Amino acid sequence: MKKNLLSYDIFVDDLLSKLKIKKNTNYNVCVCDVCEKKHFKIITSKSLLSSDKNLYCYLPVVNCKICGHSQQLIKFNDKFYNNYYMNIIEKNILTKKNIKLRFENSVRRGEALKFFLEKKLKKNFNGKKILDVGCGYGGMLLPFAKKGSETFGVDPDKDSINYGKKNNKFSKLLNIDAEKMKFKKKSFDLVIINGSLEHVHNMNLVLKKVSDYIKDKGILFLEGKGFPLDIVENFFNFNHHRIFTKRTFNNVALKYNFKPIYSSYKSELSNLKSVFAHSHQKNYKLLKQNYKKNKKGNLIWVGIKSKLKLKKKYIKDNFILKHFNLEKNFL
Ligand SMILES: [Zn+2]
Repeated sequence: MKKNLLSYDIFVDDLLSKLKIKKNTNYNVCVCDVCEKKHFKIITSKSLLSSDKNLYCYLPVVNCKICGHSQQLIKFNDKFYNNYYMNIIEKNILTKKNIKLRFENSVRRGEALKFFLEKKLKKNFNGKKILDVGCGYGGMLLPFAKKGSETFGVDPDKDSINYGKKNNKFSKLLNIDAEKMKFKKKSFDLVIINGSLEHVHNMNLVLKKVSDYIKDKGILFLEGKGFPLDIVENFFNFNHHRIFTKRTFNNVALKYNFKPIYSSYKSELSNLKSVFAHSHQKNYKLLKQNYKKNKKGNLIWVGIKSKLKLKKKYIKDNFILKHFNLEKNFL
């Protein structure tokens, strides 16, 4: 990357003033989340800040030239993100409206996940130990818990956890950042990370922990935004630190000894998350039409924890570059 592009103060100031946050917040220019190199191509210099106000901030989203992973280039400290999620996102996006509907939807998604694991992958987790990282209200765990599974969930949002504790008394829900969770090594049979890996501050730390806590041959279930819904929904927004594809999930999972066994943009789970979960949003109709037309929703991915050490390899992904209109001039 050219040297004159390494100072982002002007963009950071723009963001902070839009968020009404005091200046001089520390930030870093990141390495790639996946391959940890620093060879990027900027794919957009603008990130959506608020869909309600159609407000953008000038912060670059980049694509890694080595492995093809896409992410935000600039990262702030944990204090900044905690404030951002608790005081800004919470107020603007996670309104308390439709909370019952959202909870019910998360239970339905849990049912769909259970069905998918049993019917499609022939995996039964009745009576087994399950962890949901970024569990929200803990609704996804409920169908598993009711079948005798020992279920745990962590989420940084206190209100979601409190709502979950009242409505899912079968699971142990903890109000803690995924980076700070602590569980016994090799104790879980299934770990769910549903739409949370985009948001975590330190993805590598979270996956390292998950890899430690999961048993050999245990299952990791990931869910993330997927093309083309990510474009319709304006996925490259400030709220999402990174975007995944089938191949970048494969690349990152291999680092933590997970072997990919399944991935898809088309499933009942994708449908539930991509469409129904957003029924409170203004662009709901558009999302529904788009899903109907493309039959593609969020990306789901499943991996199995290998006992043997897997070889790290970064197979370059061109999916995002191929589908996204690149901005030619950054400045
Ligand atoms: Zn990379």
